[in-house]
Amino acid sequence: MNLLFANDRPGEYPASFYTDTRDAAPERPALAGDQRADVCVIGGGYTGLSAALHLAEAGRRVILVEAHRAGFGASGRNGGQIGSGQRLEVTELEAMAGKPAARRLWDMAEEAKELTYDLAARAGVPTHRGIAHAAVKASEVRHAHEMAGYLAQHYGYDQITPLDRAGLQALIPSPLYLGGDIDRGAGHVHPLNLALGMARLAEAAGAVIHERSVVTGIEHGTATRPSRITTAAGSVTADHVVLAANGYLDLLQPKIAAHVLPINNYIAVTEPLGPRAAEVMTENIAAHDTKFVVNYWRMHEDRLVFGGGETVSYRFPRDIAAKVRKPLEQVYPQLKGVRLTHAWGGTLAITVNRMPYFARPAANCLTASGFSGHGVALATLSGKLMAQAITATGDGFDAMEALPSPAFPGGTHLRWPMLVAGMSWFALRDKLGI
Ligand SMILES: Cc1cc2nc3c(=O)[nH]c(=O)nc-3n(C[C@H](O)[C@H](O)[C@H](O)COP(=O)(O)OP(=O)(O)OC[C@H]3O[C@@H](n4cnc5c(N)ncnc54)[C@H](O)[C@@H]3O)c2cc1C
Repeated sequence: MNLLFANDRPGEYPASFYTDTRDAAPERPALAGDQRADVCVIGGGYTGLSAALHLAEAGRRVILVEAHRAGFGASGRNGGQIGSGQRLEVTELEAMAGKPAARRLWDMAEEAKELTYDLAARAGVPTHRGIAHAAVKASEVRHAHEMAGYLAQHYGYDQITPLDRAGLQALIPSPLYLGGDIDRGAGHVHPLNLALGMARLAEAAGAVIHERSVVTGIEHGTATRPSRITTAAGSVTADHVVLAANGYLDLLQPKIAAHVLPINNYIAVTEPLGPRAAEVMTENIAAHDTKFVVNYWRMHEDRLVFGGGETVSYRFPRDIAAKVRKPLEQVYPQLKGVRLTHAWGGTLAITVNRMPYFARPAANCLTASGFSGHGVALATLSGKLMAQAITATGDGFDAMEALPSPAFPGGTHLRWPMLVAGMSWFALRDKLGI
């Protein structure tokens, strides 16, 4: 089974709150006939759209081919949190790659945030500042406060304020948390509108986007021979390919599959809460907590948009609302029984060490995926880094590619076809109940 079709109607956005509140999105024609481009981008999420935008701005002829609609995937369904840093803390990165590399990774993540705010502003999509980090255990509160100090001292980042229990509860009136911090440099956004805004910018810069066009084959080229990608009704011959299919990669490029695992995560939205909204958040910020299966949330006007619960299986559960209601009511017992108007699932991609996987599957093909739940800003940046690599104007892609990226279990069988590797992993996880 292919995740591209496992849970959604072909060519349609999911039945989500974001779909219901999205900006206008023109339907783009499917790819037809044999086309020529400098670069063919596969996938219309933040990664692909940002690559297309930056390549078009650099004067390249770009054709982006999206299986369903622009922003159909994780980019149109996520928690909208524009987080600071990489998915790993700087101290973990220092241990993994050394202090200079950790510093560069931090700076790149700061660039990612600024790029995302900037693109949102250019596209007229509002963003809001502030993400609270809510800790369940006393040791996690201490750790959060230490990290805020470490970032201020060693990375010059002074946007994080440590919070004790009362300080956190003043922002997030939940009885569950013992303290944490608030990062005023991080922020949140309507994720689908961000993707749609990037699509508009890319087209304005000259990129051509085709929707409802599933890429079924990539014939990689060489330094002297272009690549050819094919869909049911057309093909693109291009000097470079950007593969931006993230959690939906499936059979398209088996070599990447060993490093990037798709998982599903779920979000629900409450009915309008009116004055009760102040029982959830007292400011227009977003939040996430320290639970292993993380809870994350933000307000959209007076509705709570709450994410929690994940599965490692092809299919979303039948009752997504019930799955999300459980953690929602743990965080906010005061909302017990609240009516949920929307609930949906999304597929993201994780890696073993939770750092994104940047690779060159062939001489003229670049890919970035596996943002491990931290991709709103970093996937957006990855598109720019791939554009810079293709136009020889920056080496950020190489820096990311150089990071260690172990394979998921399968070890020496890295080159198994993805279906086999993916399915045994799903089956194992299902059996273990994790
Ligand atoms: C529920 C959920 C909550 C999340 N919350 C956050 C958050 O709050 N903050 C954060 O930073 N990150 C979050 N993430 C992660 C973030 O959404 C992703 O890292 C990011 O959107 C990845 O962007 P992408 O463009 O790489 O992938 P996607 O947005 O998934 O785009 C991939 C696209 O490729 C297309 N595609 C795939 N195969 C083909 C093919 N064969 N032919 C043509 N097109 C194809 C797909 O249709 C899809 O549109 C969340 C993810 C989920 C699912």
